[in-house]
Amino acid sequence: MTTKQHTLGKSCTFTGKGLHTGATVTMTVMPAGVDHGIVFQREDLGGKRVRACIANVSGTRRSTLLRSGEATVRTTEHLLSAMLAMGVDNALVTLDSEELPILDGSAAPYAQAFLQAGLLEQPSERRYIEIPRRLVCRGLFSSSRIVMEPSSETVFDVTIDFKSKVLGVQNALWSEDGDYAEQVAPCRTFCFLSEVKALRAAGLIKGGALDNALVIDEPNGYCNNDALKFPNECARHKLLDIIGDFALLGAPVRGRITAYKPGHKINTKAALLLARHLKER
Ligand SMILES: [Zn+2]
Repeated sequence: MTTKQHTLGKSCTFTGKGLHTGATVTMTVMPAGVDHGIVFQREDLGGKRVRACIANVSGTRRSTLLRSGEATVRTTEHLLSAMLAMGVDNALVTLDSEELPILDGSAAPYAQAFLQAGLLEQPSERRYIEIPRRLVCRGLFSSSRIVMEPSSETVFDVTIDFKSKVLGVQNALWSEDGDYAEQVAPCRTFCFLSEVKALRAAGLIKGGALDNALVIDEPNGYCNNDALKFPNECARHKLLDIIGDFALLGAPVRGRITAYKPGHKINTKAALLLARHLKER
């Protein structure tokens, strides 16, 4: 079975603060033509463009940073996750600051906006990236591991293990026929209260707050007043993130991706390993 490429039925605009920079940003996701892919355009830098592709990854500390020449785009993973999972192949994303808005810390605002805008079928086949054989990517200084295997369906299977009383071992899984908008998109980013000081000192999470992130006060519980969206919301968020990082391959992956303790560094390293393997064949 083949599938056509799709773009959005109409533009969607989002305004908010960047999680790390704290800067206010207005971002518009606009329909684009066949084989355009996902491209960011920095309006504040005279329209300089950064393609969403794995070769442009230039930083992975607490978010994925893309660079093309002097232009950078930060924290791309939640938008790209929603685009890939909701079937948006082609879009031009304009923004007037470096970092995408964190919104409520999840991808739900994107998923809901895309559902409302609707998808437009385009007159060209969608390309899929087939995993040709078993590939394993391991963390250099961690026990993180991502296994990529051939399969006729797309499955992302994530396990996290924070060795914490509040957040222990959790698993979450998404396959391409799964309900991303309801089951994955609403899951928020998270961090430990004990990390907040160090992250702030490193110039990160300037826009972080309890309305856009789950904060874990070990061993007492979550600092947030509202209930978790799911008991395994944190694992589901890591699932959301890895889908967004693998979207940097420029087309949906067909195969099984099993990730143990994933993060942006190993996610993008694994995607690059797959991209290089395909290139060398
Ligand atoms: Zn995230």
